[in-house]
Amino acid sequence: MLEKREFYINGRWVSPAKANDFEVINPSNEEPCAVISLGGKADTDAAVAAAKSAFGDWSFSPKEERIALVERIFEIYEARSDNMAEAISLEMGAPIELARTQQAPSGTWHIKNFLRAVKGFEFDRMLGEHAPNDRILYQPIGVCGLITPWNWPMNQVTLKVIPALLTGCTMVLKPSEIAPLSSLLFAEIVHDAGAPAGVFNLVNGDGAGVGTQLSGHPDVEMISFTGSARAGVAVSKKAADTLKRVHLELGGKGANIIFPDADEKAVKRGTLHCFNNTGQSCNAPTRMLVQRDIYKNAVETAVSVADATRVGPADKEGRHIGPVVSQAQFDKIQDLIQKGIDEGARLVAGGLGRPEGFNRGYFVRPTVFADVSNDMTIAREEIFGPVLSIIPFNTEDEAVNIANDTPYGLTNYVQSTDGVRRNRIARRLRSGMVEMNGQSRGAGSPFGGMKASGNGREGGVWGLEDFMEVKSVSGWADEPFA
Ligand code: NAD
Repeated sequence: MLEKREFYINGRWVSPAKANDFEVINPSNEEPCAVISLGGKADTDAAVAAAKSAFGDWSFSPKEERIALVERIFEIYEARSDNMAEAISLEMGAPIELARTQQAPSGTWHIKNFLRAVKGFEFDRMLGEHAPNDRILYQPIGVCGLITPWNWPMNQVTLKVIPALLTGCTMVLKPSEIAPLSSLLFAEIVHDAGAPAGVFNLVNGDGAGVGTQLSGHPDVEMISFTGSARAGVAVSKKAADTLKRVHLELGGKGANIIFPDADEKAVKRGTLHCFNNTGQSCNAPTRMLVQRDIYKNAVETAVSVADATRVGPADKEGRHIGPVVSQAQFDKIQDLIQKGIDEGARLVAGGLGRPEGFNRGYFVRPTVFADVSNDMTIAREEIFGPVLSIIPFNTEDEAVNIANDTPYGLTNYVQSTDGVRRNRIARRLRSGMVEMNGQSRGAGSPFGGMKASGNGREGGVWGLEDFMEVKSVSGWADEPFA
């Protein structure tokens, strides 16, 4: 079993102030695969103090120095991407091929995109020709607490740590206690890349401990949080007393609106997308809205995709889906499948219990419900498992209303070859992102939601801006300060 009890504080690996072991469970076999420590107040305080004392120099470091550090992180991350994929696969159950082709590379993708964004970013700007002696200065917020979930661990960590570094912030990362191994490896990478002591710190812990301590800490200027709406509310309340900024990336309940003129792969693509990462993605298209003319065929296609979806352990090669992350997650999904049945949705694929051949590991059957109405629990709550709900509609207006009738607003999807209709619907959907006809959003586009999906924007220029204060200065001398 891996022993990873230390935290990374002020440029060194240090033991926790007080021992508090916590086992990391391999979701494929339910056995401990590593032991970490859960930190306490003394550890959080030490990490925040290190970040605070490093802020003075780092916040005024030349942009080129910060870029050079992130370029070194990029190189080392790439060189260690197989180790990264193995860590992610072990801790949260992503099949190793998915970990190698999607999970680990999401980190390199974001690092590359942030480097492109920062190179063109003007930290000092003129207000305009009408006010030649005004300057707008983009400056780092200060010490940031970064709290991340387990489902796309490096995606979330790089979306926070990299812009924080590039803008001159210093930070304390608290990764999910369920999936901390990838972040511990990431901390090694940042260290090997030569980050100055105190700029980046990592303390493991749970929400009640380190998460709450960071949220309420008087020396933390901002919390960037990704996780559940429940915890987002708790962080916001805790942060209110110190009036710190809170940037939230929360859950979703994405609608995928499919019209009869959609391309022939639309239903298959939507079902596979829902099941990707075993349904554990905030932007998963979990509500498939299908126009009645093609409804029957769409249900049949989704069933055939679900029936053909293989389930298997994370360390097995292949394109199967893995287990879900934990016993708690398994139980929650079972409970929601039962609610779908009880509330009258038509179960057409999968269902309760483990797939055939499994008696341990948190494996869930790829499940499809048809004839779902949007007021059922399975259409309202984020399930975070491979469970698709299919909802019929008649008109475009009805589809848009159903899509928007949710507390969430992260990503919605539209499938139609009618471009005018697509654009019209994209404007009407109340979500931070809309993806149409299976086309991914471009490099450097902002990721984030509306309503209960949060208020932050991560990635690209917007992801940099979220870590900065905007300072407005008048009387700026034409010559730069000496
Ligand atoms: P979670 O909210 O249980 O935990 C997320 C992180 O918050 C963990 O590090 C946890 O220790 C910490 N935490 C928990 N309670 C806290 C508290 N009271 N104060 C401070 N920190 C606390 O979520 P999870 O189960 O790890 O992740 C799944 C959730 O994350 C889903 O809802 C998913 O949709 C969401 N998510 C959102 C995005 C996005 O960008 N919008 C991306 C990935 C995941």
